[in-house]
Amino acid sequence: MHTVGSISEFLEAYAPPSLAEDWDNVGLLVGDPGQTVQRVMTCLTITPESADEAIADGVNMIVTHHPLPFRPLRRLTTESHEGRLLWQLMSGGVAIYSPHTAFDSCRRGINRQLAEGIALRDVHPLVPVENESNNGADVDVTMGGGRHGTLDAPLELAALAGRLKAFLAVDRVQLVGEPTRALRRVAVACGSAGTFLQPAIAAGCEALVTGEVSFHTCLEAQAAGVALILLGHYASERFAVAGLADVLAEAFPELSVWASRHEQNPLQWY
Ligand SMILES: [Zn+2]
Repeated sequence: MHTVGSISEFLEAYAPPSLAEDWDNVGLLVGDPGQTVQRVMTCLTITPESADEAIADGVNMIVTHHPLPFRPLRRLTTESHEGRLLWQLMSGGVAIYSPHTAFDSCRRGINRQLAEGIALRDVHPLVPVENESNNGADVDVTMGGGRHGTLDAPLELAALAGRLKAFLAVDRVQLVGEPTRALRRVAVACGSAGTFLQPAIAAGCEALVTGEVSFHTCLEAQAAGVALILLGHYASERFAVAGLADVLAEAFPELSVWASRHEQNPLQWY
């Protein structure tokens, strides 16, 4: 028999919460650790669609990449978007766990997977964990924010974009930089990761692969001579949420585990 608590413990070992950014809100956010669990759904974000799906399909625990709640709450009513979702899930007895930036940065986390998806070698964190001893026994220098590494042979920016499109099964990405430019040293940082531009420059990277950055960060990268590949926030992380469902299914074969079948990227190409 598995419980909210035992699944949370597994997730804490997989993506140690001490790796999360200071501003983040990770771990078991809603629920009773003693409650038994038979059905688990992973998703990138809790939305009306993914919450409805969880209720309709009898889910006991949602593992959502993006935390809900994220900010401190002073009241919990159905009069706000967050409150409505939380009330609906709590009324349905659904626990919520979010690994978020701990999952970005952990040993088998999103950024490591992105680095492997483009066959980077000699991969290290862009921002290594500051003090191993303060972070607990489950954290070491192979973990941290973003990753950087080296391609086996120089690859044109356009070809690297093609590699990412194939890995993530997406049709389009956005580029900053000359498509024919050859690259060797590449950084990856999922989600909205403009803050990783400076660490990427400091690590001698010629390109940064991320989900999204601001227009001004694009200009900053261009001025610094660093190419950008912008995958879209959703595409840069959603694949790993599907992978996390597989990890949980393997660790807990008695459970029914799946990645949300209803959540979609709110951004559409038109
Ligand atoms: Zn994100």
